[in-house]
Amino acid sequence: MNPASTGRYSRQVLFEPIGAEGQGRLSNARAVIIGCGALGSAQAESLARAGVGRLRIVDRDFVEFSNLQRQTMFSESDATNRLPKAIAAANHICQINSEITIEPEIADVNHSNIERLLESCDVVIDGTDNFATRYLINDACVKHKLNWIYGAAVGSYGVTMTIRPKITPCLRCVFPEPPPAASAPTCDTAGVIMPIINIVAAVQVSEALKLLTGHEGALHQSLMQFDVWRNEWRRISIGRPVIDCETCARQEFASLAAGNTDFAAVLCGRQAVQVSPSQPAHLNLTTLSERLSAAGEVKLNDYLLRFRTGEFEMTIFQDARSIIRGTDDVATARSLYARFVGN
Ligand SMILES: [Zn+2]
Repeated sequence: MNPASTGRYSRQVLFEPIGAEGQGRLSNARAVIIGCGALGSAQAESLARAGVGRLRIVDRDFVEFSNLQRQTMFSESDATNRLPKAIAAANHICQINSEITIEPEIADVNHSNIERLLESCDVVIDGTDNFATRYLINDACVKHKLNWIYGAAVGSYGVTMTIRPKITPCLRCVFPEPPPAASAPTCDTAGVIMPIINIVAAVQVSEALKLLTGHEGALHQSLMQFDVWRNEWRRISIGRPVIDCETCARQEFASLAAGNTDFAAVLCGRQAVQVSPSQPAHLNLTTLSERLSAAGEVKLNDYLLRFRTGEFEMTIFQDARSIIRGTDDVATARSLYARFVGN
């Protein structure tokens, strides 16, 4: 089928840099979206409507009512049914564009599956909510020379950068270490408004379209930052890769090594999972309790913090270790940890 002849993509084909040739390239491309929350929803919808032939959507969570304010892939019935986000997204995309192939993956992305999840893809788009997964994506993409598009949003602030291994700096060139656990606000403690999601996702998708249609010269080549409440837009030039970067120069892929993700373990017979930080940390529990009190019931003593949210109870220690009661599912526990402690 010639996609240009169907009329569906006629306005996009009229856009000169894409044209019929670019549309053909899109229909032969595979994009992988890692994380289908707010950013992932916006990315998935745009790429599906644009006619990217294969979309692999990876997510470990299920739909909740608190998602509906900004996660446009999901409906009330998805939340009522607690559908996995990857499945709910696939169901909705089928209604938007039945001519493309959706590959939903319900998975907690980790060192053991990331390389399989990125197999035979042309571009990787970041829809995650934590740095541990982003370093994993960065390692895998640098190792396999895959372009990936970092993006994040919290509150009214967002940031994005397009990473082309060996050509641009990688994530670790720009951020050599992840921010310490609990040092940065997350959407579950500081909230997020939808417009910043749309801006970050729009820039990410534009970059993906440029890459997939062979217009590398049009990439923005910067770290782009936006704050739609403070009315700040910033573009920082990123230049070349850092000469001694452990990832892209030395080709050391620490987060792909087995054992590096053994920081979550089921506590047998206790309906609980222990999650440890990806690197040593020391938390200020008082500060953390102030942030968490917006999202649930918090109790604090000198040694630990107890936080109740929904049917789960998180006990968080000063070393950033957490025991999460109410589940024996590692993916659920890691998701809660990422949401409320961060990373
Ligand atoms: Zn690097």
